[in-house]
Amino acid sequence: MANRSSPDAPCDDTARLQALQRYGILDTPMEPAYDELADIAGHVCEAPVALISLLDSDRQWFKAARGLAVRETPLNQSVCQYAIRQPGVFIVPDMAKDARFAHFGIVTQENPLRFYAGAPLITPDGYALGTLCVLDHRPRELSPRVQELLCALARQVIRLLELKRANDRQGQMLADLEAARHQMSVLAHTDVLTGLANRRSFTERLRQELALLQRGGESACLLMMDIDHFKRVNDVYGHHVGDQALQLFAALCREEFRAADVVSRWGGEEFLALLPATHVDQAQVVAQRVHAALAAHPLPGMEPPLVLAVSMGLTSFDPLRPLDMTLRLLDSALYAAKREGRSRTVVL
Ligand code: GH3
Ligand code: MG
Ligand code: MG
Repeated sequence: MANRSSPDAPCDDTARLQALQRYGILDTPMEPAYDELADIAGHVCEAPVALISLLDSDRQWFKAARGLAVRETPLNQSVCQYAIRQPGVFIVPDMAKDARFAHFGIVTQENPLRFYAGAPLITPDGYALGTLCVLDHRPRELSPRVQELLCALARQVIRLLELKRANDRQGQMLADLEAARHQMSVLAHTDVLTGLANRRSFTERLRQELALLQRGGESACLLMMDIDHFKRVNDVYGHHVGDQALQLFAALCREEFRAADVVSRWGGEEFLALLPATHVDQAQVVAQRVHAALAAHPLPGMEPPLVLAVSMGLTSFDPLRPLDMTLRLLDSALYAAKREGRSRTVVL
């Protein structure tokens, strides 16, 4: 709970300014709900000028300004900064006769303002953010009853601000929730180590592609890739280097495959790629690029140098073949590549 300082006490403004920032109201556009409250204040007080003034660190900024053309003034021209340091309505019957304000622009200007009455805008936790104030061109007073009404309207301003803050919070919570939901969905579809599609999401993608092909879509290819002698990498360099090798392979795949291709971590050190709208000879070119990229990129910082190689099985995605049969065919092609000496691609 804030302890509002007396006019004489030094005003510790830090907590108050933080409270003001929490409402996110400064420099927002004018809004009818606030304009109307200022309008009612002006009418109730029979004053030509009515303001909802918020006291920032170096200025007073008006959320609503009836009868005044400016939206902010420097703090050294602010009567409101006195009004927020006391409870109840702060009244200056004639600013021209008050040494604190007689030199202010609004008092020395042509058609000067003379009278000021401001009710503080006090938050539920006790911070005075600014005032709901009225000004008049002639010196005058404000009856106790009208002062009460001005305070009631000031409380309405605070209620509006509280509503805005609750709305903002709810909006933020919804945005956070949506971000978390998105993150969950990404995680559910992604292999954590490599960032590639995981087996589950890739299987979905395969089924989609098969359905497209069965409706006469362009022919596609599938490429099964298995890193050669990977167990040795773990045995010689350790499991964490094995993990780095898997990440390097994934990174090279991202570079060498084309944007429309999808590469998945099918399991362990085995990767399955779908190349949509691709003929076998085009897919062989991509496979060759992956072989070459692996040969050209030893795992950084390893002594002796660690160069990965991969064996591949390649086949066209035949829409008339059931998916499990296609996968078995790919396995056969891959094992033929292993048998024939590894680091190569076999097409079946
Ligand atoms: P081949 O050339 O015949 O494919 O031999 P290989 O050693 O690559 O095949 P094998 O199936 O004998 O061994 C695969 C190894 O991959 C065994 C397993 O511990 C390792 N492996 C599987 N998943 C991971 C992983 O996430 N991280 C690490 N570091 N190793 C993994
Ligand atoms: Mg292997
Ligand atoms: Mg394997």
